[in-house]
Amino acid sequence: MINNIFPLFLIIISFTTSIYPQNNIAANFEIQEIGKNIYAVIRKDPPGLMCDGNSVIIINKDHVVIVDAPEASNEIIKELKKMTDKPVRYVINTHWHDDHITGNQAYHDAYPNAEFIAHKNILEYLPHQGLINRNNMISSAPGGVEYLKSLLEKNESMAGGPMTDEERVSFINDIALVEHYLDIVPNTEYFLPKITFNDKYILEEDKKIEIIKAGNAHTAGDIVVFLPDEKILITGDIVVHPVPLVGAEQSHIDEWGATLDKLISKNAKTIVPGHGKVMHDNSYLSLLSGLFNSICRQTKDAVAQGKTLDEIHTSIDLEEFREEIAGDSQLKKILFNYYVKGPGVTAAFNELNKK
Ligand SMILES: [Zn+2]
Repeated sequence: MINNIFPLFLIIISFTTSIYPQNNIAANFEIQEIGKNIYAVIRKDPPGLMCDGNSVIIINKDHVVIVDAPEASNEIIKELKKMTDKPVRYVINTHWHDDHITGNQAYHDAYPNAEFIAHKNILEYLPHQGLINRNNMISSAPGGVEYLKSLLEKNESMAGGPMTDEERVSFINDIALVEHYLDIVPNTEYFLPKITFNDKYILEEDKKIEIIKAGNAHTAGDIVVFLPDEKILITGDIVVHPVPLVGAEQSHIDEWGATLDKLISKNAKTIVPGHGKVMHDNSYLSLLSGLFNSICRQTKDAVAQGKTLDEIHTSIDLEEFREEIAGDSQLKKILFNYYVKGPGVTAAFNELNKK
């Protein structure tokens, strides 16, 4: 047994070193210019079970506005200081999950005058559900890492059968991200935003920045940031590419499609999702809107026929969407089942029972 485990560590170390030259998973992002003095910080991780968030840097005449503060914020601040010596004045959190808010403390430490902006629901969720999420993650993460290491050791896919190269790279990256999370998050206090709002909050000190609650979706605290002059839309986790992230308990799948339709109506030229690549048209948003509406419609019909939750999980047909999102990728098919089909049906079922 020990002989089997030991070589695994060698494999992991050699893979992580070759994928990350400085062996620094936190800095695995690239900074893309998406407008004049506007930069998207896009994670380069492969699709996986674990992730850290994208963020956006907006450099105004005399200060900087940041959208989202992921776990890698110390590394982002290092890069920001090379780009400008202007101080960060505002940090906007698109919602209250750790991969979008953990870095608030880092921004506060580096820029003590920075002010933090979020939807008012964050004050309710972050200290309660946020803390429960965090404690669940901290207690379950080591077991998850062991599970992934055992799959790597056995060269076995989560779907059964042999692991593909894509899964191997993804799981190794997941392990590095989880280990970074466990390094950073348990040692970081929640930092609650002081500026909160209900429908809309506008910053107009230089570039016009609209902070909007378009509707419930990934959470009840989702907000988006829209720069109307540049037609740049920053969506948080209302849009996640290539596989959306649905929470069985915390997502509002019955409202998600309508929320996406409102974002589509903005006709943005540049869309920065909470995770995944920058996009330049609405096609992926339309796909997701159709997917979430289909989950809700099929679940509602099945409940009307008297089916149980277990039966609906088996009978629901999302093949058309899974094909579009996952194609031939075994990894993305696994992620689709894990992050969309399973929790999506449960969320839709629970919402129907609440009504
Ligand atoms: Zn996220």
